[in-house]
Amino acid sequence: MNQKKMFINGQWVDAVSGQTREIINPFNQDIVANVAEGDNQDAQLAIKAARTAFDQGDWATTSATERGAIVRKIAELIERDKEELAELESLDTGKTVEESREDMDDIAGVFRYYAEIADKDGGEIIDSPIPNSVSKVVHEPVGVCGQITPWNYPLLQASWKLAPALATGNTLVMKPSEITPLTTIKVFELMEEAGVPAGVANLVLGAGNTVGAELSTNVDVDLISFTGGIHTGKKIMQAASVNVKKLALELGGKNPNVVFADADFDTAVDQAMNAVFFHAGQICSAGTRLILEESIHDEFVQALAERVKNMKLGSGFDESTQMGPLISAEHLAKVENYVETGKKEGANLIIGGKRPEDPELQNGFFYLPTIFTECTTDMSIVQDEAFGPIITVEKFHTEEEAIQLANDSIYGLAGGVWTNDTVKAERCATKMRMGTVWINEFNLYFPQAPWGGFKQSGIGRELGKLGLEEYTETKHVLQNQKPEPLNWF
Ligand code: NAD
Repeated sequence: MNQKKMFINGQWVDAVSGQTREIINPFNQDIVANVAEGDNQDAQLAIKAARTAFDQGDWATTSATERGAIVRKIAELIERDKEELAELESLDTGKTVEESREDMDDIAGVFRYYAEIADKDGGEIIDSPIPNSVSKVVHEPVGVCGQITPWNYPLLQASWKLAPALATGNTLVMKPSEITPLTTIKVFELMEEAGVPAGVANLVLGAGNTVGAELSTNVDVDLISFTGGIHTGKKIMQAASVNVKKLALELGGKNPNVVFADADFDTAVDQAMNAVFFHAGQICSAGTRLILEESIHDEFVQALAERVKNMKLGSGFDESTQMGPLISAEHLAKVENYVETGKKEGANLIIGGKRPEDPELQNGFFYLPTIFTECTTDMSIVQDEAFGPIITVEKFHTEEEAIQLANDSIYGLAGGVWTNDTVKAERCATKMRMGTVWINEFNLYFPQAPWGGFKQSGIGRELGKLGLEEYTETKHVLQNQKPEPLNWF
């Protein structure tokens, strides 16, 4: 088996320690690759390369048009190798190949979007208080960026960070999740092919408490962009204070999906399924808290349960599969534990709540789609992010109550509202305290729309123009073209 290496200063290298890690297919626990396992030493080498490339190289001062052309080339290469990338992503995560193909289209779209807007910011001339002067505001790259990604959407999350960082002239060190690095490794090959100069983009593989911690604490890193869990995010925030790094945090969610009785019933049922069971619920924006108007509650739950009964679990490479496995044995245990807690807390388990019995699924980390009714906001299954295929159902009688339930969370990432009353929908959207509100839609991301959370779901935004701004510093330059003495002293 080919051993995958890290990419530091334009070279494919093994870990200094010589350590490696096995990458497992969560469908059957087959070893699909061996990858270098870096640690603090490798991270330091990569940071040094990125620092030198930023301080002494040409990348930061290369024209934005030229950088945009390289970012566009990366998009083209991703499109060229889409099938290989999609298969790698499914091998690594267990998600269906169809979903991985959609991810690759989205990822190429993100690189294209940032390629297109890279050279559209010409700064701004602003009014000056003195005559014969020019006062301008410009945006410059931040410097060396540490980028840390999770395992659920390995390459999609990486693209949200790589494309804007490169387009704006930063240098970077990326650390993908240690359990799903394969597509990120492949994209670094494509970035090399596209002409990203040596030292500009570096890849270090390894664990969070070594490589990730080094990126967060090293004073040569100017910005940390992190996507992952809330507890890790808090640690990184603390660590990053060492040199007051710029921070962008995309953390978890416990997202409400509010359905009013006047919504299109069948569409709302279908989309409520999709909102949670897509990628086995391992989505930060999964609509796990289903909040139903009392008058449709029973019928809605029954319709959901009917459809859940027939869901097909299996290999991501089987076209009939609707839901793949969870990512790891450890994560499966966490989801099981969470369901047991729900039962103890008094929630009513109406379907699922265990591993499937199908003998063909026994080697994989599968868990049945699960629905709890009679849930209340004091239950930890309603408050904590499970990151699995679990719906908790709550009931409301009035619009005010629906909003209050939707907002009763430490998180504020995203949420949905289903109703045919557009005025009511807008009223709800205004009151919902989250970074994204979908009306009669769920889980729709696209490059133009900013993504990020209110409350403890994070700081800053990815995607859209704001996603580009995260990677820039704003500078004001004033030139006095006729300086004269002040004669004050
Ligand atoms: P995680 O926090 O365990 O790990 C994320 C990354 O952080 C990994 O690369 C990991 O190695 C690294 N890490 C771990 N400890 C670290 C430390 N001390 N210092 C620096 N880095 C460290 O998260 P996960 O389990 O990989 O991903 C699931 C989480 O990600 C969920 O909470 C999910 O909601 C969140 N997520 C959020 C978004 C978003 O856009 N808001 C998107 C995807 C996933």
